[in-house]
Amino acid sequence: MYYTITLNPAIDRLLFLDQKMESRKTNRITNVDYDIGGKGTHGSYAMSKLGVDNVALGFMGELNSDAFQQIMDVKGITNQFTSIQGQKTRECYIVIDQVSTGTTMLTEKGFKVSKQDIDTFMDQLKKTVKKEDTVLIAGSLPEGFTINDLKRLVHLLKQIGCFIACDLSGDALKVAVDLGVDFIKPNEFEINDLNEDKEDLIPFLKGLNKTIQYIVVSMGKNGSYFLHNQQVFRVISPNVHEVNDTGAGDCFVGSFMAGLAKNFDLEETLRLASACAASKVMHNDSTTFDLDQVEQLKYQVQIQKY
Ligand code: ATP
Ligand code: MG
Ligand code: MG
Repeated sequence: MYYTITLNPAIDRLLFLDQKMESRKTNRITNVDYDIGGKGTHGSYAMSKLGVDNVALGFMGELNSDAFQQIMDVKGITNQFTSIQGQKTRECYIVIDQVSTGTTMLTEKGFKVSKQDIDTFMDQLKKTVKKEDTVLIAGSLPEGFTINDLKRLVHLLKQIGCFIACDLSGDALKVAVDLGVDFIKPNEFEINDLNEDKEDLIPFLKGLNKTIQYIVVSMGKNGSYFLHNQQVFRVISPNVHEVNDTGAGDCFVGSFMAGLAKNFDLEETLRLASACAASKVMHNDSTTFDLDQVEQLKYQVQIQKY
């Protein structure tokens, strides 16, 4: 089974405007839509859409769990989130207008998890995940969930022996690297932060590839680098009209996992992930991509041995 873990999910409220948002002006909202925010859930969405069964795990607030579950139902995301009593899942406001590329996001900090919540979550994980499974840990850590808790989580998964994928930033990404997970997908900024001694990128990545089987460094419209078994590939993305790049990386990761799940070879997997992510940036929310578009875009992805 495939699992994703989103420790600090959100309910995204998409606010659509006809015109560019301005201060000192009434900005009229023309439409409101809801989406699940949280990198793991975005990965789950991509996998499900590509026909790969998976379960989204993590924490959710008890107080607005009905709203949270309703959006999960609409999005078709099977989930078993651990409920945090007396607290609510954070809400984020995403302003989307028809003029700008990119969006304005206003995000709440979210709930605080207790040691007890963390223990409950870890116990559930221990009972659920098996050696042959794959687990993606993605997104930020909620208040109360420390770097040491993340270490505990990765150690637990390593003990189980499952495949561990991580889409993390900053100190959390460092933990994933230090503990030698199986897959990471930093973007340009995240890899820069990790490369503290400012080594040349490719030798630095080859060093990481000694302990991490699969590495993707994503560079937005400039595509990505991919490393496996000390081989480096440069992946060139299709040239598309970008409307909103939020969630491109999440979509890439979910689709990459779907490719592995379908036993695609690595080239096919990279093609699929790059095409899904390119389709995603043509849509204005953080998750949507189009399977017909993906079929076309797949053939425009170029993969070169570096
Ligand atoms: P996020 O965390 O918001 O999900 P990210 O910053 O981690 O995204 P990016 O590097 O921005 O990830 O994008 C991931 C992948 O999506 C890229 O490697 C590329 O394959 C695809 N992509 C992103 N932007 C574009 C674009 N404008 N055109 C085509 N493909 C794109
Ligand atoms: Mg980006
Ligand atoms: Mg990302």
